[in-house]
Amino acid sequence: MQVLAQGIKHVDALLFTHHHADHIMGLADIRPFNFKQNAPVNTFASPRTADYIRKVFPFIFDAPDELKQFYPRVDLISINGSFDVCGLTIHPFTVYHGIMPVTAFRFENTAYITDVNNIPEENFQKLTNLDLLILEAFRFEKHISHYSLDEAVSVAGRIKARQTLFTHISHAFDHNTINSQLPPGISLAYDGLTVIPAEIR
Ligand SMILES: [Zn+2]
Ligand SMILES: [Zn+2]
Repeated sequence: MQVLAQGIKHVDALLFTHHHADHIMGLADIRPFNFKQNAPVNTFASPRTADYIRKVFPFIFDAPDELKQFYPRVDLISINGSFDVCGLTIHPFTVYHGIMPVTAFRFENTAYITDVNNIPEENFQKLTNLDLLILEAFRFEKHISHYSLDEAVSVAGRIKARQTLFTHISHAFDHNTINSQLPPGISLAYDGLTVIPAEIR
């Protein structure tokens, strides 16, 4: 629905953080892009996430060869270190969503991190000199596998990106009220927000 609402006409690649339903259930809807682009869509996931995706969508991955053109077509690529999308080098790293490892991504001076409540200490070194940090801020109350708003503000304050956008946010947040209370440089993302990092402008 978001893709339709935003008039997105082309998908170069899909990057998965983890296999939870709110992050993967739209995969089958890649099919119209297969028709338009006449090609499978390169899809990147950790080996663990890729295994789960294959289990959730057997009809995609086990489709008989002679019928594959009628099914969603996804080239599911297991991430094994940095990879390239349209000339942009993506550097994946692991963060934790409760006990679950989740893949976060840095490319140039942008980082994307959700769902998470624990960034391992050594990975903060990968988050220096960011122009843009996209980070989850789930809800007001503490949660066992997501950063609360206060925790996200504290982590963003430590990372000190020039701009931070909070995503994966609760319906309980009143957008304007929360935005007015956030420190400078931090704001809530919203449906339809377009962010074009300097490196891909
Ligand atoms: Zn999740
Ligand atoms: Zn989620």
